[in-house]
Amino acid sequence: MRFLTLLAPVALCATLFAQSNRAESPDTPPSLEHFNPDQIDKSLDPCSDFFQYACSKWMKANPIPPDQFRSGTFDKLVVWNVAAVRGMLEDAAKASNPTPVEKQVGDYYASCLDEAAVNKAGITPLQPELDRVAKMESKSQLPEIIASIHQMIRPANLSFIDAQYQGVLFGLYSSPDFDNAQVTLAALDQSGMGLPGCEFYLNDDDKSKHIRDQYLKHIAKMLELTGESQAQAAAEAQTVLAMETALAKAAMDIVARRDPKNVNHKMSLEQLQAITPSFNWSHYFAAMQVPASPQYLVLAPDFFRGVEKLIASEPIEHWRAYVRYSTVNFMAGSVSQPFIAGSLSQPLVDENFDFYGRQLYGAKEIQPRWRRCSVNADADLGEAVGQAYVAKYFPPENKERMLQMVKAIETALHQDIDAVSWMSPGTKELAHAKLAAQVDKIAYPDRWRDYASVVIKRDDFFGNVARSARFEIGRRIAKVGKPADRQEWAMTPPTVNAYEDPQTNTINFPAGILQPPFFDAKEIDAVNYGAIGMVIGHETTHGFDDQGRKFDASGNLKDWWTAADAASYEERDKCIQEEYTQYVPEAGVKQNGKLSAGEDTADNGGIHLALAALQNTLKSQGKDLDTSAPDGLTELQNFFLAFANVWCGDERPEAARTAVMTQGHSLNRYRVNNVIANMPEFAHAFGCHAGQPMVHANSCRVW
Ligand SMILES: [Zn+2]
Repeated sequence: MRFLTLLAPVALCATLFAQSNRAESPDTPPSLEHFNPDQIDKSLDPCSDFFQYACSKWMKANPIPPDQFRSGTFDKLVVWNVAAVRGMLEDAAKASNPTPVEKQVGDYYASCLDEAAVNKAGITPLQPELDRVAKMESKSQLPEIIASIHQMIRPANLSFIDAQYQGVLFGLYSSPDFDNAQVTLAALDQSGMGLPGCEFYLNDDDKSKHIRDQYLKHIAKMLELTGESQAQAAAEAQTVLAMETALAKAAMDIVARRDPKNVNHKMSLEQLQAITPSFNWSHYFAAMQVPASPQYLVLAPDFFRGVEKLIASEPIEHWRAYVRYSTVNFMAGSVSQPFIAGSLSQPLVDENFDFYGRQLYGAKEIQPRWRRCSVNADADLGEAVGQAYVAKYFPPENKERMLQMVKAIETALHQDIDAVSWMSPGTKELAHAKLAAQVDKIAYPDRWRDYASVVIKRDDFFGNVARSARFEIGRRIAKVGKPADRQEWAMTPPTVNAYEDPQTNTINFPAGILQPPFFDAKEIDAVNYGAIGMVIGHETTHGFDDQGRKFDASGNLKDWWTAADAASYEERDKCIQEEYTQYVPEAGVKQNGKLSAGEDTADNGGIHLALAALQNTLKSQGKDLDTSAPDGLTELQNFFLAFANVWCGDERPEAARTAVMTQGHSLNRYRVNNVIANMPEFAHAFGCHAGQPMVHANSCRVW
């Protein structure tokens, strides 16, 4: 895993296309959502539930449409971006004299839209692979078979942060060496499970059992759709679930995975071979074209010991069933991104949606094909698709204003480091140095990724997805042995999200999030600092949260804290962990504050930094936070309302449950209320007093 820390979970935003209301057809061009203080419900008390005060009117006006699992102001921007991308893909697809980039993305999009051709092909494009699996006679063939599948399935998004890599049996990617970011290693990680996290296999509450029952039916249905008899498919489904459960038992716990030292296991080929004698790594690496290296990063050695046991104990026919099912399942859709278009025919895609979209996320209908195809094009050829997007929607002056805000927020953190009483001067000096070394990336890469070697055919969607996947995995593996590239992006330009990467010491804001309601060139500073300023502060704080603080200025996992300073940090961190360890009624499960600590720390620190930067900015303009803004509210009230506004939204209970169990991000209501209740500045803005719900008696503060 990479320790990329995002603004919002990938599965819940990057592939999501909410509509504003039921009455709109999917083809109605969406509008941008600007900050509007009139949406406050003045009949409510901001001091008793600020999220309701700021968001309930919006949520009432924007119910979740049947083909969505969530509706929010955040998602409206996603809708807008996907529509923008669609427009450019359509133009490219019908251009009479296209540039090479337009030809590639246009042909890709046209091939995806041609659902009749995809349906006519049925499972045929995958048949050669399934035949190889069916003919597997010995478990010693597993390395070559798994490698062949790993080169065909779209690799998990680099920015995944959840419990496991999404793929067949295990995941392969490249990662900077934790101890030396100047060297990239081939990394092996836990994977191979179709449910989103280990708890889904191991918990024994009624809801978990129900999901497993449904999953069993899903496995059987997928196998039937590959041509198996009902009886055979039902029997094999039991086998597959048992094997995945064994993998879940061997896998590392999601909270343990948050601590980088727990996943920093480097092994030579001989050491790796010694823990998995039944799997010939030389064969696998040769097939994947992984360069020979003195060391490999094995993130979860116990998981691979579990794989060894499974290979030794399960007969070959069980392995055929497992590999057959997981290959079809991953080609039919994506486990972590259930709204992406699978490259197989409709019955398989529908069954995939039925389980992942409906059961795990609560959506009622599948997305229109054009939306799924627009997202696919972005996922497979993102830096080609993104070129036209930024040319059209991201004017250079926006970059300038963003950079000013980033600098103002970094200044605020430098001031905060100087001001805190719990850090010694030596640690402060190293914190300043780390912040000074951070690279700020805005909107899009300086150098675009070149997809020229990917063959895209207008009549071969399956092949286009498979060839794009092969290109991407090859691109990642080609980095082995090289220094981490600080200029590379792990998100595409139209993405509504942001991330921090401690190993390259960068913060990254794709152009997709630099639109209203986050960034609004027409808005006052108080509104922009409350929205995108909070996002900048969030990502900046990640460099100094419970994970980020363990990496130094050069991106190496190195303890630069004195023992006493680290203990002071842990004490503050514990306050946040305890605050967020709470029952979440809308999800029906308890949140684990140890899982969400990094994100919660970033949310709390982010808003503090944005507020300090706003205060400095207003001061330079001869104003202060209590000055009245043109809308009649104070600057400070505008700031907090603009902050709440970007989190206005609601989601279905299934999606909320999946998110709380597998993601480090708190649900929106808590991202607003828990944060502001820790802030005396909020109480001041809205006249709240001790004893009211939005004023915590024991307020937590790290940054
Ligand atoms: Zn984050």
